[in-house]
Amino acid sequence: MEETGIDFQRVLYLVDSEIVRAMIQKRSYGFKTFVATRIGEIQELSDPQDWWWVSGGDNVADIISRGLDTKTSRENGLWQNGPHFLQLPVEQWPVSQRCTTLDIPERVGIVMATDFTESQASPVEVERYSDFRKLLRVTAMLRRVAKQKSFRSGAIDINSAELCEAESFWITEAQRPLVQQMRKDPTQFFKGYGSLGPKLRDDGVIVVGKRVKNHVQFSYSQEMVPLLPNHHHFTRLYAQMIHNEGHNGVSTDMAKIRSKYWVIRLKQLVTTIRHKCVKCRKYDGQASGQKMAPLPGLS
Ligand SMILES: [Zn+2]
Repeated sequence: MEETGIDFQRVLYLVDSEIVRAMIQKRSYGFKTFVATRIGEIQELSDPQDWWWVSGGDNVADIISRGLDTKTSRENGLWQNGPHFLQLPVEQWPVSQRCTTLDIPERVGIVMATDFTESQASPVEVERYSDFRKLLRVTAMLRRVAKQKSFRSGAIDINSAELCEAESFWITEAQRPLVQQMRKDPTQFFKGYGSLGPKLRDDGVIVVGKRVKNHVQFSYSQEMVPLLPNHHHFTRLYAQMIHNEGHNGVSTDMAKIRSKYWVIRLKQLVTTIRHKCVKCRKYDGQASGQKMAPLPGLS
């Protein structure tokens, strides 16, 4: 920016993940190591207050990976000018800094009777949720209620550290069969996943990195990422959320997901999600063959 000679009055960073934005604005002490490193870097190099959330649809940085049609890429098109809101006063931009805690379903009252501890199976029926963020908010809320043994503060201002803890809880849940196999039948486990260089982290989460490290998405982080089975509902919800944020192609969705999790047979999962997506099917029908080639080495 310094080299352009332009005097910038203010810089706003826009991300299309609410959780990432919320995490950047908190101190990173509450996060697991693999998140803390990246967040710490961002906090060091920029002012966390300059980070804003924007919806996936308004994130123009994403459109190139969706493939550009002639309308978008021509002169005066979206790609050249940026989204329409950039021409409005900043106050009118569709960006926000709120940590959403709304949309808590009424039925949670029923499951609150159960104590919520790490060792028990979850009282949250994961299959009932169709939205990743909502699942995390409800889980965070229930964990807080269980911890404080009070319903009073349950739904108020769930913070990003609590959302991260809720996410860790589901990682552990989703990994349970894998961890059991690693402990009881390591030969079989390493036969299946040895090439990924799996390790059991101190917090009991299996992380992989040996192969993952070679990926371009990891250029700014050498951290290892949790391994997830593709059939667990938590994994599906995450992949679905990533897809819905931009309705991108399979390779883009895979790259985005892999910057956070290594999902077993991810391509299969992402392909199924995209095939079932009404929006993408419509778009594919209209697109005139201007598709991006898949990124190398991501299949
Ligand atoms: Zn789609």
